[in-house]
This record gives sequence, C-alpha cells and structure tokens, in this order.
Amino acid sequence: MTSPVPSAIASLLLAWYAQESRTLPWRDAPTPYAVWVSEIMLQQTRVESVRPYFRRWMERFPTIAHLAEASQEAVLSTWEGLGYYARARNLHRAARLVMERHGGRLPDDFRALRELPGIGAYTAAAIASIAFGHDVVAMDANLRRVFARLFDVETPLGQAETEKRLRSLAETHLPAGRAGDYNQALMDLGALVCTPKSPRCETCPLRGLCLAQANGTQTQRPTRKAKNRIPHYDVSAAVIRRNGHILLARRPENGMLGGLWEFPGGKVQPGETWQAALQREIREELAVEITVGPRVGTYRHAFTHFRITLQAYECRLRPDSPPLQALEHSALAWVTPAEFEAYPMGKVDRRIARRLQKGEPCVSD
Ligand code: SF4
Repeated sequence: MTSPVPSAIASLLLAWYAQESRTLPWRDAPTPYAVWVSEIMLQQTRVESVRPYFRRWMERFPTIAHLAEASQEAVLSTWEGLGYYARARNLHRAARLVMERHGGRLPDDFRALRELPGIGAYTAAAIASIAFGHDVVAMDANLRRVFARLFDVETPLGQAETEKRLRSLAETHLPAGRAGDYNQALMDLGALVCTPKSPRCETCPLRGLCLAQANGTQTQRPTRKAKNRIPHYDVSAAVIRRNGHILLARRPENGMLGGLWEFPGGKVQPGETWQAALQREIREELAVEITVGPRVGTYRHAFTHFRITLQAYECRLRPDSPPLQALEHSALAWVTPAEFEAYPMGKVDRRIARRLQKGEPCVSD
C-alpha cells in the first residue's frame, strides 16, 4: 500500500512542506491529546477560528485527566462560539472513556481510536499518522481536492467510485514512515496553494505533475454533485421575565446545540403568526400560557444545512399559569442578566442575552 521509495509527488511535497509548513499551535508539541483536540476543533471550522480556542482549551484542560474531571458546563463554556457542540460533548465523554479503559493515554491503535465518541475514520487516521506515526492516509477535503486535480478526476466527490479512487491514489503515493508529514503537507498545500476557488498553480511544487493544470481544468476539479437548496425557517423565542429574572432552558443532551441554554421557543408553522407560534411552542415545551409583548430583536443565522430568521419577544406568564414543566428541555433556570455568562449558549441566544444585559429597548414594529 505504501511506497518504500517516495514517489515524485511525495518527494516534492515533503520538500515543500519542510520549507513552507504552517506554524500552528498544535504543532509546537504534537502530543496525541493536542492532535486529537485540534483535529476535532478543525472539523467544519477554519484554522484561524480554531487558534484561540485551542490555546484556551489547552490552558483550561491541559491533559485528558483534566478534561475528564471537568463539568459539562465548563467544557461547553470553553467551546462556546465554535459551533457543532456535539464535538465538545463527545471529546468530554471520550476523555472519560480514555481514563476508564486506557489508563488516561489515548490508544495508538486505529480501531481503538474509532471506538471513542466523535472519532471517525478521518480523525482516527489523522491521530494515528501524526501522533503515532502509523502509515495511514487522512482523507480530508484538502487531500481529496489535491488528488482530484493532480489526476484530473472527472467523477463527482461523494460517489463511491470517486472516493475509492482518490483514497487509492493517496495511498499509492504515501511514503513509508512519513505519513504524518505527508498528510499534513497535503493539508497545508490544499489550504495555502491548491485552494478551492483559485489554486495558485504558479507557486505549486506539484505543477509539473498535475494533470488538471496541464488540461486547464483546475477550477472545475473536484467535480461536485448538484446541491439541494438550503431551507430557511422562521423561529420565535421568548424572553419570559419574573421578579427581575429571565427564564433560560437547557436543550436536551443529544441533538443540535445539545446541553446549551436558550430562550425557549421554536419554529413558526405555515399560516401562524410569530406570536401565535411562540404561545404554542411555550405551551408544548413548558405547559404554561404566556402573553407576548414587544419584539426584542430579529436575528439571522446560517447553520450548515439551513438558515433561520429568529424574532425574540418580551413575554409574561399568565397569572393563572400552572408551574413550569421542562417537557422538552433537560433543565430550566431563572437567571438575572448579570448571570448569563455562566450559561453556555449558541450564537443567536448569546446575541439576545448580550442585548438584554445592555438593557437595550425593544424594537417598535
Ligand atoms: S498545480 Fe494547481 S491544481 Fe495542480 S495541485 Fe498544484 S495548485 Fe493544485
């Protein structure tokens, strides 16, 4: 599978990497734990966004033991703003399993790594190659793009035949004993030179070997399947006040933004007003009736697979309301605005919280 004598592609790539590799905080001391944390943070997230989070995380949880002992609230607070919160919850659960099953050391075996929550084939391969020197390719988007261009692969990404071919090409050129550098070199080449929209072929170490460059098809590779339109949802949220406190609800553990705190509410159904949707959602989630007052603000946000427009409203519990019940949340809390920072939240809820902390007036419609 690997090549004992580096191929021309591998030789040029490794020579380029020795000169041009990026300086990244997790490369300073690439312990298995640091590689693991960085690879999880880098999923769906840009390197520049990850840098400060990685530093803060390692200061707060310098070892797997520190992470395993931390509360989920501390873990989610440290992750707040990075998105895809299942990654943080899985890191935390995995750290506890590493303490229980592996004596606090991340296993160096690909299969044992795969058994840990949140570690898929790519992440296991990245850890196995970079931290433990195993000869495996870590097929991320950069590697797939670079090989699709080098060999001018016409079939679309995501198709089984394409994925198999790209993996086979990457494995064929993997130089024995250098998988960590090879994978990182391809990641860096894809990030710095062979970029998605405007590849800088004139500075590329592989330009003499690249079929897409020879055929002038660089910007058409890799080929992609046609995308479905991203759906959009209208969502309303309630700022329910009582005696100087505001109600926060903790989202269920599993699922999107799991374990984070929010202003309760939900999707507006076709034909519903924002206010009627909010009254229905609060009845379904908390078993109480509310009156809906003025609008606090309008917030737009794009998630990976959908977009939302959220309107938040000042609300009051009706005087005859029964006690609140957490029918769909894992916890409820009455909190003063000054205490909001102690409650990890997603981006939109944090924006609402900041507005409430500043005491900005409601919006007039
Ligand atoms: S020559 Fe251009 S298209 Fe080919 S690998 Fe280099 S940057 Fe990418």
